[in-house]
Amino acid sequence: MKYDREKEVEFLIERELKPNGITDERVLAALYKVKREKFITESLRDRAYGNYPLPIGEGQTISQPYIIGLMTQALEIKSSDKILEIGTGSGYQAAILAELSSVVYTVERIETLSLKARTNLYSQGYNNVIIILGDGTAGLSEYAPYDKIMVTAASPGIPDSLMSQLKNGGKMVIPVGSRFVQDLQLVEKALNGRIYKSSLCGCRFVPLIGKEGWDD
Ligand code: SAH
Repeated sequence: MKYDREKEVEFLIERELKPNGITDERVLAALYKVKREKFITESLRDRAYGNYPLPIGEGQTISQPYIIGLMTQALEIKSSDKILEIGTGSGYQAAILAELSSVVYTVERIETLSLKARTNLYSQGYNNVIIILGDGTAGLSEYAPYDKIMVTAASPGIPDSLMSQLKNGGKMVIPVGSRFVQDLQLVEKALNGRIYKSSLCGCRFVPLIGKEGWDD
């Protein structure tokens, strides 16, 4: 049967995302627009819009669309926002963020993935994404502070560097917990610098490996 992207993405949005609380119009429009099939290997293309994670090589995965929607929606991104993403992976989440904000800095520790993400993003015109190779647990002090921070790998705690690189009035989403199961946390830094944390849901991410994360 011929692959019908529009039908697949509409089914995902109407049947899996909206009924489960992903309702922000800008977020849904970005999920509709960004071609998930371009960020995964050709052989998985007909599964691009299933509501499950997919392998992207090097033992890493791209999150399920529901989690991507939930994390993106929680950040309440404005078109003027400067965003930091930790865990570039395929570059798919960075593309979603790039649709909604002004600039996205994304850090990945595995070179092959970073290079592939670069091709994926730039071939599709995402020139407002800056791709950096390195240990994202230390954040990216050169361009700090950030309006929003998204961590797409599981951390034993909230790295101090990331907390300090978040603007007052900013928000961060990060999976915090053990190596195998985590709590997806929304961290809000008030204008006076006070920190408020809430839990979005249980989740399971690949580990954040680095100085302020897990050991290799
Ligand atoms: N956001 C990605 C999926 C990320 S999977 C996407 O949309 O495809 C998590 C990624 O975090 C993996 O690629 C992993 O290599 C990376 N990662 C793990 N620890 C890291 C660290 N300390 N710094 C940067 N990236 C890290």
